Amino acid sequence: MAMTIGNISTWAIPKLKLKFTSIPTANAIVFSSTRRVSSVNATNSNVLLFSSQPHRQTNTNERTLSFTDSETFQETKKPKYWKPMCLYYTQNKCTKMDDPEHLEKFSHHYSSRLQVGSDDLKNLQPQQVDYFLVLDLEGKVEILEFPVVMIDAHSLEFVDAFHRFVRPIKMSEKRVEEYIDGKYGKLRLDRVWHDTSIPFAEMLQQFENWLRHHQLWEKGALTLHRAAFVTCGNWDVKTKIPEQCQVSGIKLPPYFMEWINLKDVYLNFYNHRAAGMMAMLKGLSMPIIGSHHVGIDDAQNITRILQRMLVDGALMQITAKRTGMGSSGVKFMFKNRI
Ligand SMILES: [Zn+2]
Repeated sequence: MAMTIGNISTWAIPKLKLKFTSIPTANAIVFSSTRRVSSVNATNSNVLLFSSQPHRQTNTNERTLSFTDSETFQETKKPKYWKPMCLYYTQNKCTKMDDPEHLEKFSHHYSSRLQVGSDDLKNLQPQQVDYFLVLDLEGKVEILEFPVVMIDAHSLEFVDAFHRFVRPIKMSEKRVEEYIDGKYGKLRLDRVWHDTSIPFAEMLQQFENWLRHHQLWEKGALTLHRAAFVTCGNWDVKTKIPEQCQVSGIKLPPYFMEWINLKDVYLNFYNHRAAGMMAMLKGLSMPIIGSHHVGIDDAQNITRILQRMLVDGALMQITAKRTGMGSSGVKFMFKNRI
């Protein structure tokens, strides 16, 4: 299939998931996968080469850029380089904070991605909690990544984040290798995953220390204090966390008893059914940042959707409550649900 947008021609080969784009005036050919541009290399001022094979670089934390198709076209006209986040830094494990070359290459702060102007707060509703904790797990067989982004419910400002890669415990080393290679290898995040991942039980201990540090939970308390989890769907807290607790042989922590499914609030607020994060971004005409299915990037994109909904005047309410301590038995609070 071929189409022309301005002086840019595109041919897509669906079976190979490849798209070929040529820009006659720039005398260049741009190759990209249909969904993700794996690497971007500016070879000279008027030629950009997008290739599906990442260029080898020595830094173990190399990240990839991803664009939607429409952004790819914009990028070919006006290159804009998005600095990937240092995923050692997000886990408090970066040892290169005084290395200018490393700092130039990788972002070491969240705030620029999650900024809201003070002028945007005029439609803000009073919220029922002081903080939102946006959680987006990765890993279908066992949890592989646990990212939480914390924002202030009144100023919408980024407060802190908790991010850990999680190592499965019921899998052989060989299976873990294959699993991680398939999941993070293509984004070249397998090395940082292997360098930093810890078992789920240990991760939860660190997460509880983090919650206590922010005075959001005390041992023995049955709910979070002044805060609520926000997720994209019910799967994360309803299904996956109890499953992983069982696999890891630990009790389900009480702070996972209720949560806000952003898709339910989105449906009831905008009266528009969005199947997932990408559909919500699209519905709000917001570009994705980072790479879809990297947990810490998805958590930031979901946070951006949450901020936008709050700016538009949405009231965040608990959408699901567990009735017992297992994965079954959940009471849904909204009649109109996705
Ligand atoms: Zn770093």
